[in-house]
Amino acid sequence: MIGEPSDRLILLGGGHSHVEVLRRLRGRPTGLRCILVSENRFSLYSGMLPGYLAGHYRLDEIRIDMARLAQACGAEFLCRRAIAIDRQARRLMLEDGTELDYRLLSINTGAAPSLSTIPGAAEHAVAVKPLHQFIRRIDGLLSRSAESAAAPLTIVGGGAGGVEVALAVRHRCRLWPGTPEIRLVSGRRGLLPEHNSRVRALARKHLRQAGIANMEGQRVQQITRRNLILDDGSVLGAGLTLMVTAVRGPDWLRNTGLALDDNGFVRTHASLQSISDSAVFAAGDVTSIEQQAITRAGVHAVRQGPVLSANLRRAERGTTLRPYRPQRVILGLIATGPKHAIVSRGAWATEGRWAWHWKNWLDRRFIARYRHDDN
Ligand SMILES: Cc1cc2nc3c(=O)[nH]c(=O)nc-3n(C[C@H](O)[C@H](O)[C@H](O)COP(=O)(O)OP(=O)(O)OC[C@H]3O[C@@H](n4cnc5c(N)ncnc54)[C@H](O)[C@@H]3O)c2cc1C
Repeated sequence: MIGEPSDRLILLGGGHSHVEVLRRLRGRPTGLRCILVSENRFSLYSGMLPGYLAGHYRLDEIRIDMARLAQACGAEFLCRRAIAIDRQARRLMLEDGTELDYRLLSINTGAAPSLSTIPGAAEHAVAVKPLHQFIRRIDGLLSRSAESAAAPLTIVGGGAGGVEVALAVRHRCRLWPGTPEIRLVSGRRGLLPEHNSRVRALARKHLRQAGIANMEGQRVQQITRRNLILDDGSVLGAGLTLMVTAVRGPDWLRNTGLALDDNGFVRTHASLQSISDSAVFAAGDVTSIEQQAITRAGVHAVRQGPVLSANLRRAERGTTLRPYRPQRVILGLIATGPKHAIVSRGAWATEGRWAWHWKNWLDRRFIARYRHDDN
């Protein structure tokens, strides 16, 4: 079923960049046989996760069926987890013992949660990443919280994801019999450090109106079964704790010999080609692009898709690769729970229900581009 070793392009991970690489194979195959290897059949779209938590979307509305997409684009799909790379032999090792030779390997596996800096977090908190594990557990956990309404909910992480998750959960629990205490602990960098002061002021207003305790500047130092201990010594009762904090590179990459940065992300040139291996490319959150200090956001993973697609073809032909040039200012749409959002762009900010409907339109359009339900 699988071709000669030198014939293979392996796309590892069903991330936001690879969906576009696959789409661009449709009707325009490369000279290589393409195999998508991903540990999940469905790729979840993080931009719509807060809307799912708030109750605006069903699960099937926020995911892409990678098996169908691969099939529609003339690629094979293997639902497996990768655990190692033998770069000398150009071979990818999968958890079930399968070994796949490749000519080109492209990695778009996303990032892993970085829980080790907070003792007890791995045991007593729930990380939002990886999304698949989170989504499998969260409905059950929230139902249990609904039954014991006195148990508090704590969201750790003050970036856009943390703010959205806190406000989405608050919106969801408006129908619960009791109203739980909800807190957002955002650490020393405070709320929305990547955004302008007006966006921060709007977010603070929405947190206040929603009755969410905004614990800016405080850092969770330890989590136990019963308590959260903050760095100022205060002790809070722990109910359900959700971690929307910093991420790092997946552990298994550390043994591959690929050049990684201090946080375990694959170091690449602007072309998304590894700086240490010309047969390996990486895109999305797993990448650390030389001399590009960009924040990890799905929007970059999406925009890297066309560049990655072009460069995999160019690498196959041996022609010059083109660089990924990130936008200097990116648009942020931060959902506030009900069908309402804050708009952030550079020094500009605004908000409204229209902004949520715009975000909804953009997000649904993204998913629809990769749907092949009728094929
Ligand atoms: C709540 C929340 C909201 C967010 N909202 C936004 C937003 O509105 N806009 C925005 O720009 N960013 C947003 N982000 C950030 C966004 O989630 C990430 O930047 C984005 O998901 C990165 O995409 P990716 O393509 O790198 O990988 P991912 O989307 O993480 O996909 C990786 C895929 O690879 C698979 N995989 C992983 N490891 C393996 C392995 N070893 N073997 C096989 N398969 C593997 C995974 O199962 C997954 O399917 C949000 C994040 C959170 C937490």
